[in-house]
Amino acid sequence: MSSVGEFALIDRLKKFQTRGASVVLGIGDDTAVLELDRLRYQLFTTDMLVEEVHFTRAMPPKRVGHKAMACSVSDIAAMGGVPTVAVISIGVPKDLSTKYIEQVYAGMNACARAFGVSIVGGDTVKADKFIINVALLGEVEKKYLVTRVGAKPGDKIFVTGKLGGSLSSGRHLTFTPRLKEARFLVEHFKPTAMMDISDGVAGDLRHILKASGVGALIDVEKIPCHKNVTLDQALTDGEDFELLFTLPFTRARKLVEYTKIHPEWQFIEAGTVSSMSGKIQMKDKAGVVRSFHLTAFTHF
Ligand SMILES: [Mg+2]
Repeated sequence: MSSVGEFALIDRLKKFQTRGASVVLGIGDDTAVLELDRLRYQLFTTDMLVEEVHFTRAMPPKRVGHKAMACSVSDIAAMGGVPTVAVISIGVPKDLSTKYIEQVYAGMNACARAFGVSIVGGDTVKADKFIINVALLGEVEKKYLVTRVGAKPGDKIFVTGKLGGSLSSGRHLTFTPRLKEARFLVEHFKPTAMMDISDGVAGDLRHILKASGVGALIDVEKIPCHKNVTLDQALTDGEDFELLFTLPFTRARKLVEYTKIHPEWQFIEAGTVSSMSGKIQMKDKAGVVRSFHLTAFTHF
């Protein structure tokens, strides 16, 4: 499995997709997009956390529960939508106490309440490791849907907050999905492309570039790094769960002006979309441009 890699595996599995008339977007974005009614799309996403891969039993169970729900909420936000309904399935090892599982559910419950999600069912099975799967529905007004396709040369690249060190600092267990920010953006600034940063900004940016058929010039100095985080870590660490989005020049200028007056909103401009398809270039302090090769966080 590790010899194939996650994205190569997903590519191979794509051919087994089935698509009815309601499918607008299948595999390949933050969520699937389905017809709902004249004005809205249904969004559908699922995320699985596995003990020893995504969390350990030494971590506070409430926070593990929070993470399980929050990473799905983040994917709905990345499409410009709002989350609605979840089902939760768990695989439970013999030695796990009911109390521990209840704590995990308390974490999911608190996150669900905070973001207006109804938890309506699920499944429980025996397993060797503790596994949590959250499948989440959401909705988005058709006019507000944002996918990974649509970034154009000249667009400005933004992120919604500081990057890097999420796993080592524990932030990956406590992060706030950027739902409020995403809704603000789709309602007032209409991003041309958007996704959430789960595998490191450099790797995830590549997904937008590939989907949109463009490249990027990143202003290294402007990449917002968390405390005690190197630039490399900010670019390649996984699980930041900030949003990465692009805006045409004029709207980008307006957003930058807006955030000057409203510093409670964090939208940080960090680069420009280029016409060099699939290529990421880095401009350093001295203005020297180099092409960038990454080793992003991999799941396997
Ligand atoms: Mg995502």
